[in-house]
Amino acid sequence: MKLVVLGSGTSVPHPERTSAAFWLETSSGLVLLDCSADATHRMAQEKVDWPNLDVIWISHLHLDHCGGLASFLFGLKWAPQTEGRQKPLRIFGCQGTGNLVTTIDESNNYGLFEQRFPIELRGVSIEGEEFEMLPDLRAQTFSTPHTGESLAIRLTGKDGASVVYSSDTGYSEELASFAHGTDLLILECSFFRNKPTPKHLDLKEAMRLAQLAEPRVLVLTHLYPEWDGIDLESKAAELWPGTTIAAYDGLRLEIASR
Ligand SMILES: [Zn+2]
Ligand SMILES: [Zn+2]
Repeated sequence: MKLVVLGSGTSVPHPERTSAAFWLETSSGLVLLDCSADATHRMAQEKVDWPNLDVIWISHLHLDHCGGLASFLFGLKWAPQTEGRQKPLRIFGCQGTGNLVTTIDESNNYGLFEQRFPIELRGVSIEGEEFEMLPDLRAQTFSTPHTGESLAIRLTGKDGASVVYSSDTGYSEELASFAHGTDLLILECSFFRNKPTPKHLDLKEAMRLAQLAEPRVLVLTHLYPEWDGIDLESKAAELWPGTTIAAYDGLRLEIASR
């Protein structure tokens, strides 16, 4: 699997970090993890194969994670690059995703679901679910302490390589169990210290979760501007001896199974 970080930031405007979106290339197909308002143009900037995207995952309804979904569908509808496309685009979204897109769609008769190819939208409940995201790409979800609908996801490919994306979350050791032994853990680390809310993680908590989950590679993301000027990777190394990478927009990683 191959990862391209499209957005390593939050909802707060930042000159270098756009809001949450992660491009994942698997042997089963192309996956977008979260679709922020910036994601559409970030995909083009990174020159990924967005006209052939197979699946969009929406972790929760905060707009820095889903604000680009309707506008991306609108863009696909008018893009010459999708003219010959026939395969469906699947959207797996947390509870409320369908309502959000449908409400926007109906507000101005955009016809977001009337595309040259089928749009298949499926809601995922807050109970832990297991489903085939694509043939040979298994997905498992975990309800995170962030919002009522927020979900972490674990994806396992044909070759056994796995990725866990926490999206936004508060501290939960169950999340570490859910992520245990994964090849890549994309974990939020909103704040360095003195986090203003229990619904996000600070560095100490993120590294405690890494210690418990023992991922092969840890990528820390969802970085608020409070991180500017702090060397995240060296601070992380003081707390956990494994491989920690500070996400940035444009980071590319190859993920093989152990
Ligand atoms: Zn967020
Ligand atoms: Zn959030």
